[in-house]
Amino acid sequence: MRAAVLETHGEALSIRSVPDPDPDDHGVVLAVEACGICRSDWHAWAGHGEWVDDVPPEGQILGHEPAGRVIETGSDVDTLVEGDRVAVPFCLGDGSCPHCLSGHGNVCPNGLGLGFEPDAPGAFAELLHVPFADYNAARLPDSVRYGEMAALGCRYVTAYHALAHRATLTPGSWVAVHGCGGLGLSAIQIARALGGRVVAVDVREEALRKARDLGAHETVDAGAEAVPEAIRERTDGGADVSLDALGIAETCRNSVRSLARRGQHVQVGLTTEDERGEVSLPTDYMVGRELEFLGSRGMPPTRYGELFGLIETGVLDPGALVTREVSLEEVPDRIEAIGRYETVGIEVVTSF
Ligand SMILES: [Zn+2]
Ligand SMILES: [Zn+2]
Repeated sequence: MRAAVLETHGEALSIRSVPDPDPDDHGVVLAVEACGICRSDWHAWAGHGEWVDDVPPEGQILGHEPAGRVIETGSDVDTLVEGDRVAVPFCLGDGSCPHCLSGHGNVCPNGLGLGFEPDAPGAFAELLHVPFADYNAARLPDSVRYGEMAALGCRYVTAYHALAHRATLTPGSWVAVHGCGGLGLSAIQIARALGGRVVAVDVREEALRKARDLGAHETVDAGAEAVPEAIRERTDGGADVSLDALGIAETCRNSVRSLARRGQHVQVGLTTEDERGEVSLPTDYMVGRELEFLGSRGMPPTRYGELFGLIETGVLDPGALVTREVSLEEVPDRIEAIGRYETVGIEVVTSF
């Protein structure tokens, strides 16, 4: 099969032939129909993440936002058959530990990062092996297209889990979204659907325009205004929930300082080589206002059903975030474009 392979960090991915995967007893093989391209692919390509043991080895096939069709099943697979259309999260659980069994497979200690580890080659490829497939593969409703679902593998589900399960978002809450890339734009659409009022922050006018198109009530140009003050003013006292969807020190601290009293910061963006996983925070300020700082990672595979229900009924529309469909050959260029902040919305590979 053909795949996009990381040969050397920081150098263009190579599009070449690699052996087809065989399913493990508990796994299935998918024909990949679509796979989103994400900032995490850029981090992986650049070799970031050594501080959390997250650097993929050279030789890794990247790609972690897949949707596809089951073409082969392992002997122990019970719930999937050939021809099933499925989506797969990037944070794969083993399906059997206490975390997986209690519905938190996104933090499984025996889990695999799809597209980041040798035991979980990614989906910038014609075929994909899904381990522990009964647990990890979520069957798609017939009405949902593959291209829409590819956006769900990572950014959309990450934004959904952060706002629907980690934060306590009540109707009318002000939600600040720092960084309007694919993750931030997903969060804007979801916050609106959950009854939030949204203030979106970015330095790029094009990204802020897209944020307004998706329903942001207020926008803040971080290049022109002091962000915490601008948000506190626009929201009459601060955001109730604030998401750092980028993951640099400035957006993280701005997010914390933009909160209302007893507000919740949710960290979803991962940091860069500049922070190396460490950001200093205004802790006395947080104590005095009883602020919460929450981490949020992907979404447990067991929560896909509720999200599919909202998509099927038109409450959520991830397809609205897809701005471009590309071929496997274009993946190396589009990953590097993310690093240069040249992409808007979500780009999806749909031809392999
Ligand atoms: Zn587990
Ligand atoms: Zn991603």
